[in-house]
Amino acid sequence: MFLEARGIIKAFGTFRAVDGADLDLAEHEIIGLIGPNGAGKSTFFNCLSGDAQPTSGSIRFLGRDVTSITPEAHARLGMARTFQVPVTFEDMTVIDNVMVGAFLRQPHRTAARRVSQEVLDFTGLAHLAGSLARSLGTPGRKRLEIARALATQPRLLLLDEALAGLTPAEVRLAIDLVRRIKARGITIIIVEHIMEVILSLAERAVVFHQGKVIAQGAPRAVVDDPAVIAAYLGHHMKRVRM
Ligand code: ADP
Ligand code: MG
Repeated sequence: MFLEARGIIKAFGTFRAVDGADLDLAEHEIIGLIGPNGAGKSTFFNCLSGDAQPTSGSIRFLGRDVTSITPEAHARLGMARTFQVPVTFEDMTVIDNVMVGAFLRQPHRTAARRVSQEVLDFTGLAHLAGSLARSLGTPGRKRLEIARALATQPRLLLLDEALAGLTPAEVRLAIDLVRRIKARGITIIIVEHIMEVILSLAERAVVFHQGKVIAQGAPRAVVDDPAVIAAYLGHHMKRVRM
């Protein structure tokens, strides 16, 4: 199995943000992780990427136990992620932000710059290479997050609401970008609130509710599942016209 998470619990005091979640992922799959706000999706991502240590449970990636290794060790193995709140280096240029990712595998500046330039072309940010990160708007920032993750040359990419805050036109461009990332052979888990994104991108949807996986399967069947709709009651199941 490419990625295998078993019985993941992440407790904060007596509260379990993730409460016994399992996930299996095959290489080249693209899955959508959905669920209302506070369901534990970002906390689960943190456990997968090593940004948080699960209270219990185990995670295997490429046949290795990665439950307790650092985020850097995850990155080295080929796991990259974006953060729900972008973590850009504001006073650095766009290309220098991307080089922070590229240095993981390219210790030399010239090679790191070449990889970063290629990623900027691929993500449509090339014309902003020399701009300061602070000058970017939301779509640019979201793209920069993705670009920095891609510069680490990952095999698995975790996208945490990488399309949130975009206009429908920008969402369409971002969907196209995610498709091109998949076409490069990168496996993707995408957390997204916009159901149309899940419906058009994901091969499988996995639904989180109160820290547990309550449903999974074909995206269309999952979003029409009464148990899933009930989990979203009182929450916003965001739909946009695209
Ligand atoms: P989602 O990404 O699905 O919206 P999160 O994983 O961000 O959900 O949060 C799940 C729950 O865990 C929320 O109730 C949140 O307030 C809580 N939580 C997340 N991080 C912490 C933390 N560091 N300390 C305490 N509670 C947290
Ligand atoms: Mg979240």
